[in-house]
Amino acid sequence: MSTPTNRRIVAGNWKMNTTPTEGAALAQGVIEQAGSPSGKVIFGVPAIQLVKIKEIVAGANGYFVAAQNMHEADKGAYTGEHSAAMLADAGVDYVILGHSERREYNGEDDSLIHEKIIKALDHGIMPIYCCGEKLDIREANNQEMVVGKQIERALSSLSEEQMSKVVIAYEPVWAIGTGKTASPQQAQDMHAFIRRMISDAFGSGVAENVSILYGGSVKPANAEELFGMADVDGGLVGGASLDAESFAAIIKA
Ligand code: PEP
Repeated sequence: MSTPTNRRIVAGNWKMNTTPTEGAALAQGVIEQAGSPSGKVIFGVPAIQLVKIKEIVAGANGYFVAAQNMHEADKGAYTGEHSAAMLADAGVDYVILGHSERREYNGEDDSLIHEKIIKALDHGIMPIYCCGEKLDIREANNQEMVVGKQIERALSSLSEEQMSKVVIAYEPVWAIGTGKTASPQQAQDMHAFIRRMISDAFGSGVAENVSILYGGSVKPANAEELFGMADVDGGLVGGASLDAESFAAIIKA
């Protein structure tokens, strides 16, 4: 069964890569090479590039821009941070929240991420909520327990309407930037588990429409097989999103 078009999303996470000049060329190159996508394509770009990349995607059907982080407060003395109101005013469509690198290097936990999710939704920005287990958890076969708790803490108190605006990215930490990919069956098993959780908490209507993306060393060579799994609705792509040809090939997979 192929992914329904309304669920299909391929998102790139550029992380702290690309200057504004390089980023603009990358976004334009992807749009030229991938053309009109099936579903949505999202560029997750450094904050300094949000306004420029928004201008670029505004002229292309099916393309959107995401911030890679957002502060939970409305405004104030938080040097170096960006608020939801700032992102919304800049036309930002999505925000990546809970990425494993922010959990690891910035000590973000699911209670903080929950606050950020609510704040983003209040401002009409759609969260891409990242969850996923570390290697020792996978080796002990405890991945469903850990990911289940992450989802419960970050998402379970949302309303159905709020949940219908959230995208989930399952990113096993052991597969991010390592070249190791979850097997299509490992990804499918976890995505089906997450969709069941969403169905139990919010009803089957919300669960059937929620996009659940796989992230972790997605490349042109493995994208088609991963995205072909029934509950894998697309991908959150790091390294391979930095090359227009590779990312375009993943979009077309
Ligand atoms: C990511 O950072 O979200 C990611 C999946 O990275 P990579 O594709 O490089 O593993």
